[in-house]
Amino acid sequence: MELTAEVRRFYSELRQISFVRDEREDPQQNLIEPLELVAVMAGLKPTYLGGHGGHCLELLQQIEEHALRFGLHTVWNESVSPYDHVVPDVDRTFWNYVIEQNHEARLAAPKCLWAYRDESEGDKIRRCVSGELSVAAVLGYPECCTEHHFRHRVGWLESLAKAYRKREGAKTADALVSLYRKQVSSRVEWPEDLVQKELYHSLERYPFVHFTACPNCIDADDSPAAAINTTLQELATSLEPRFAAEFKKYAANPDFYQVSDFLEHCHAVEGPIPTTLS
Ligand SMILES: [Zn+2]
Repeated sequence: MELTAEVRRFYSELRQISFVRDEREDPQQNLIEPLELVAVMAGLKPTYLGGHGGHCLELLQQIEEHALRFGLHTVWNESVSPYDHVVPDVDRTFWNYVIEQNHEARLAAPKCLWAYRDESEGDKIRRCVSGELSVAAVLGYPECCTEHHFRHRVGWLESLAKAYRKREGAKTADALVSLYRKQVSSRVEWPEDLVQKELYHSLERYPFVHFTACPNCIDADDSPAAAINTTLQELATSLEPRFAAEFKKYAANPDFYQVSDFLEHCHAVEGPIPTTLS
């Protein structure tokens, strides 16, 4: 993939920032986020969202400073609105309560950092945060995979409502709300194994993307998820082959992968990291 000198410099200088922080437990995040930031800079992805998992203010501020220095736009806002467009099959009063709780939790949470290159993305981010626009359009993920992800989330809530009725004796919507408010954890019949299996399968197939591929995308080489993975893999390889190799190492052994060695080495290097292809 042909990359401009500006994009290469963006990557080299970004690597001086340590993404490994105590607040961030998911090592894949520490690989994917630098890659997604470069993808935004290179015009291959509409926006970057940071801080929705493992929020570290100091890191986000460093990322913002870096992004602004290279002419990207940034905004601090809530994370994506998760539920509103996929409605579960539960009592409406219960559902409204869950939406309200979710909204309050997002308001109370520290703000996330959004970065983007095209100015028109600013309005899309606002609409995405308020639940009017799909997260897929804003983050550049396939519509099918994000819908599948949200289906899992509402599926879990449907199972919880069933468990409250069956095991906790809830007969009315108010009783459901009351149990939910008290955070009663009932034995929910939810295929956690299946969700986990999908996640691992997706990681193995498409290690360069931040979303879980849906069943339609997972084995199809011409699927939307496969196309995004290919683009980002080419980007990572063009930036630095050993950077791309880290994603494959992670995918081969996600439970025991340690990202720190690679990243610690990167920001210990003095000056820009060589970016020539080997
Ligand atoms: Zn899909």
